[in-house]
Amino acid sequence: MEGKKGKLLLIGFGPGSEGHLTGRAREAIAESQVILGYKTYVDLVRDLLREDQVVMEAGMTEEVARAQEAIRVVLEGKTVGVISSGDAGVYGMAGLVYEVMAEKGLTSRDLEVEVIPGISAINSCASLLGAPIMHDSCTISLSDHLTPWEVIARRVDAAAQSDFVIAFYNPKSGRRTRQIEEARRILLQYRSPQTPVGLVKSAYREQQSVVVTDLEHMLEHEIGMLTTVVVGNTSTFVYDEKMVTPRGYHRKYTLDRDEQNLKLNERLKEEAEPWALHTVAKEKGETNPATTYVQSAFMSTFECMVSPGVVNKTFTPNQWITIGEVAGEKGKIQYTPHHGLLLTLSADSKPKQGVQKLREAGLLVSPTGDVVVVKACDFCDGDKKDPIPYAKELQARVSGLSVPKELRIGFNGCGMVCYGAVKEDIGIVYRRGKFDLFLGGKTAGRQAYQAQLVAEGMEPDVIVDIVENIVRTYGEEGYPGERFYKYLSRLGKIAGFSWSEPVC
Ligand code: SAH
Repeated sequence: MEGKKGKLLLIGFGPGSEGHLTGRAREAIAESQVILGYKTYVDLVRDLLREDQVVMEAGMTEEVARAQEAIRVVLEGKTVGVISSGDAGVYGMAGLVYEVMAEKGLTSRDLEVEVIPGISAINSCASLLGAPIMHDSCTISLSDHLTPWEVIARRVDAAAQSDFVIAFYNPKSGRRTRQIEEARRILLQYRSPQTPVGLVKSAYREQQSVVVTDLEHMLEHEIGMLTTVVVGNTSTFVYDEKMVTPRGYHRKYTLDRDEQNLKLNERLKEEAEPWALHTVAKEKGETNPATTYVQSAFMSTFECMVSPGVVNKTFTPNQWITIGEVAGEKGKIQYTPHHGLLLTLSADSKPKQGVQKLREAGLLVSPTGDVVVVKACDFCDGDKKDPIPYAKELQARVSGLSVPKELRIGFNGCGMVCYGAVKEDIGIVYRRGKFDLFLGGKTAGRQAYQAQLVAEGMEPDVIVDIVENIVRTYGEEGYPGERFYKYLSRLGKIAGFSWSEPVC
């Protein structure tokens, strides 16, 4: 039979909406004399079909028959479009068609085959969830019709262990209901119950539904044949109801605060990459870097500030010993310009117990980052006692509160201001039984300026309330990352005090 060579078009039409169908897929549908596909799929592209095209609808389970039928018609010299949702090469018809060809010994001499890529469910669903597949991800089909469950379970285990973001296709059907429960059980061996999970049903179709939940609660929501389940990795977080997987790994956390990712500008520093191949190879000699990577990829660090107290500036020898013990060999102790030591611990060194030991040794442990820091002078080694209770009360009330940007409050016990309270964001100076208040120092830069005097001779019993009110107002109204003096120059006042930027 020497006729015209037929053509087989394996068309991935994307999630289901016309807008997400590629130009080539649209052309290929138009080019096809015969369209073959599962009924639901044909319905999704029905608007693009013409009367003169032969449409062959098939049931879900007749995939092999569909592939055989398509090839039979192509061999008659026709152009046949086999339509698949998403991408035809991802759990679609493309592979099956080649398998049938191989079985029959057919090659490109007998028929022309074109695979037309489409947006696969992992991509369309991810886009609706935010940005969950920014880092390494994989797809796993939970259908055990053609794949032994043993193999699937091993893949789930490996992906969970290696911290892949996972998109589960075919998570559940009428008869297959336990697979997703079992997959979740495996995941929970490696990931926390709070790991974000996205459930997207019928992405970009009429019945679309998007749920952001977590491993703990995912089974309380509807999961069906048309759902893709996207499980985040150990870094994935939820922001504004969206799932976000950061590009990098290193995280820091501090007292009473969830883990935070490194700030964008901190990420590329060499010390922020202790797991990089060059560093790992240097430290471990010739050990297999791949193995080390898997362990260190989950590394986060814990940070806190340690000091003998807000007023007391003297460490006892025993406190030094405790700090050394808590830091251990891997920890880092840095002194800072802010009357304290910055202690950095690796997450595997039990930071919670460490903090408890430091506190038991009488040390003051405070969080780091964008929080309120109270710095006081030493009150002439305790000689100037009167203002001390106010400094302690202020420390207890506001130290560690979250603010848009680190906020330092200087508290000095006399008009000498030798500890430089007036150079901080907020300065409090005790003088002749009353308090002076300074606001909005620009604490860094060549054009730094001191805080401005906004009130003089305030009664001691109001000072703590007033400062707390200022701090909380800034905490609530400041833009993320906005320094205190910037906030003041934007609004010109805070809590009843006016402020204007100094003319330098
Ligand atoms: N070839 C398709 C996958 C077919 S397997 C692709 O590349 O996307 C069928 C599975 O794909 C479904 O069980 C579901 O998990 C997923 N899926 C396909 N289309 C989807 C859509 N619009 N929304 C959510 N999941 C979808």
